[in-house]
Amino acid sequence: MAYLSFKNINKIYPNGFHAVHNFNLDIEQGEFIVFVGPSGCGKSTTLRMIAGLENISSGDFYINGQRANEMGPREREVAMVFQSYALYPQMSVYDNIAFGLSLQGVDDDIIEKKVTETARILGLTDYLERKPRALSGGQRQRVAIGRAIIRKVGIFLMDEPLSNLDAKQRVTMRSEIADIHRKVGATTIYVTHDQTEAMTMADRIVVMKDGYVQQVGSPYELYFKPVNMFVAGFIGEPPMNFMSSDVNKGTVLAGKTSLDLSHILDEKTLASYEGKKMVVGFRPEAIELGAKENAYVLNATVELTELLGDNTNVYVDIDGVKTILKVDPHDTPKMDSQIQFSIPYNQVYLFDGETEVVIENKTRNL
Ligand code: ATP
Repeated sequence: MAYLSFKNINKIYPNGFHAVHNFNLDIEQGEFIVFVGPSGCGKSTTLRMIAGLENISSGDFYINGQRANEMGPREREVAMVFQSYALYPQMSVYDNIAFGLSLQGVDDDIIEKKVTETARILGLTDYLERKPRALSGGQRQRVAIGRAIIRKVGIFLMDEPLSNLDAKQRVTMRSEIADIHRKVGATTIYVTHDQTEAMTMADRIVVMKDGYVQQVGSPYELYFKPVNMFVAGFIGEPPMNFMSSDVNKGTVLAGKTSLDLSHILDEKTLASYEGKKMVVGFRPEAIELGAKENAYVLNATVELTELLGDNTNVYVDIDGVKTILKVDPHDTPKMDSQIQFSIPYNQVYLFDGETEVVIENKTRNL
């Protein structure tokens, strides 16, 4: 196992493109860290700098307290699993898993012991004689993981390892990878653009955008205490709804309905926003149908409903503003009907219209 530390890491590619800005992070021994963000945010670049496949332009990177900027990939004792499994098609599952150890000249009986143990952890015992083409996508991915974990390295890196799998396999492999992590215990850094993977697997998530870290926190913190609109909109599915307006006499508007901000903000904060732009946000799942107490009550027209089984997504129009609500399927409203719904005050998020930074809601106590 290993612990890692990044101090003001920057990556500037030879063409001058600044892909990672002032990346700071400490990763504890055995942690499962997920880097998440949209395409191009710099997550793979950061992972490749950890692996030693990409040089670090400035800043200091430490593995187990030792400066590692100039260490070669082998010295770092990392294993990496890529999106493409890169298995050898002519070799059996056994030989694919054993390959790295064979190259190192490890004794055959030790290799056999290790491959048997690795196959047991991964549920591949019955497939050791097969060639990769006779395996499902999920099984191939497990072989790729087996090849990495057999080396018993301290740091395990994964770059979008599930993106070639279908939706059902992804769900299964998510829990399998989490289970392997529990058994093997290696410090793991996992890159994905899929917020569900991040939320379900991570001890801590690092949200990135345009080369900058936006927030680092547990899945709970990112969901309930996003620091800005980007994180609030990225984490959660369907995403948070946003409505923007100017603060006028202590109120904001969603469509034509005003919200008295004194319910949510302390006096001083409220006064400082008079006349400025503010964004109201609420999660689709945080609403209640009907008019409730201690809540922002809104009227809307139902445009579309999507029954998903455990809930229904209701697409509504609030005086021209399009939003999504998530309701119990038994309460699904009719298309084109007028509905009323409530956002409890402690579920309302407010953001500075200029900086997009969250403004503290005095009724939230999480
Ligand atoms: P994706 O999910 O699409 O892989 P990512 O978040 O992993 O995205 P990176 O691959 O880290 O993003 O790339 C970050 C930025 O750096 C992108 O804008 C990309 O175009 C740029 N980039 C990547 N490699 C190079 C390179 N060799 N030279 C110049 N720019 C590069």
